[in-house]
Amino acid sequence: MGVKEPYISRALAGCPGWPGDSSRRDFLSAAAAVLVGLGLPSTGVAGGGQHGTGGSGQRVVVVIFGGVRRAETFSPEGIENIPHLSGDMLRRALLFADTRNEGVTAHFNAISSILTGNWQRVDDWGKVAPATPTLFEFFRKQLRVAQSDTWMIASNKALTSLIGASSASQYGPSYGANVVFPKQLLVAAVVNALRAGRTGNLADRARIETELQAMLEAGNYEGLGWNVFDGVTNLDPRVRSTIESAISNFVRSGGPTSGDELTYMVSREVMRKFSPRLLVIIFSDVEVAHFGSYALHVAGIRTGDRLAYQVWRDIEADPEYKGKTTMFILPEFGRDPDGSATNGFFNHRGDSESTRSTWMMALGTAVEKPGVIERPVRHVDLCPTLAGLLGCPRMELQGIPISEFRV
Ligand SMILES: [Zn+2]
Repeated sequence: MGVKEPYISRALAGCPGWPGDSSRRDFLSAAAAVLVGLGLPSTGVAGGGQHGTGGSGQRVVVVIFGGVRRAETFSPEGIENIPHLSGDMLRRALLFADTRNEGVTAHFNAISSILTGNWQRVDDWGKVAPATPTLFEFFRKQLRVAQSDTWMIASNKALTSLIGASSASQYGPSYGANVVFPKQLLVAAVVNALRAGRTGNLADRARIETELQAMLEAGNYEGLGWNVFDGVTNLDPRVRSTIESAISNFVRSGGPTSGDELTYMVSREVMRKFSPRLLVIIFSDVEVAHFGSYALHVAGIRTGDRLAYQVWRDIEADPEYKGKTTMFILPEFGRDPDGSATNGFFNHRGDSESTRSTWMMALGTAVEKPGVIERPVRHVDLCPTLAGLLGCPRMELQGIPISEFRV
């Protein structure tokens, strides 16, 4: 199923003179800034988005985690993996303790169902767009909202840019979101370098560096999921020099990096530059479970917990968001139960409670009173709920709005 991220660390490991974490962080920050810059229209990198005027003035940020079982999260034994979600965030949140995926428990279909309010059964690998309109399209068409106000930033390799708009005849890509896959850019660059020969010596390191730069400078991002950047051929020179030195540092620093960390940083840049009214962030470090490492899966949960908390703190610190934003956090589904025929936590194919029932946390403006809601809600109920918060007119969907929110 494509390329594994450890290629990055393997390709870059063994380089002498590692400056350590801070330069990697600099790289990720700079990369995030550049990626966001590329998303702007041809006028350059400066300036923010133009907001449409329709709607409630409320903002929505949705963070989706990949497959996470209740056993490793909101359970007595799992709670230590989510110190932020179960601590600071839970105290001010509504926690829906039985949030159900009653559709296809594969990534593209699960996220499509959350975004459309209808259970989607399209191709599992994103070769076909959702069959009914996404929230992005409802929001943009009905309220005349600009594309720069709707973003999806995702780590998950099972997604494609088709996740940003449906094939519905009255809607479609002209009302879709900006869709960005930050990790693919880096992985593809490193894989190209690997294809060209072995790495580990100085010459190979230089080649990787060149490849990474070429990737960032190239105008054609087709095949990498960078459809949002069509038509952009040049980087702003100031940004280019920043990224070039950051890449140098990154290549010399080596060591593993997290796709979700990069996705977070790109999301932060998007929030700073565009302040989108509807932002969806898909983390997927937890999906390392498919390769069988329980320890890395749990590490992915901890990363997601930490990054979700950072997103919340960014919301609270940003005057464009503070006091007018509701944040939702939920897994796409659980994972199979231990002892199942599908290898337990490796997969998410079983028709079991462990796979179908997880949780959802909401915090921010629309939460009147923190608490735990025991009654079941379904993933398809989220789209009409978010549509209501954003001020969209009521629509005919399988999902029904969740009543506990203040609209
Ligand atoms: Zn998966």
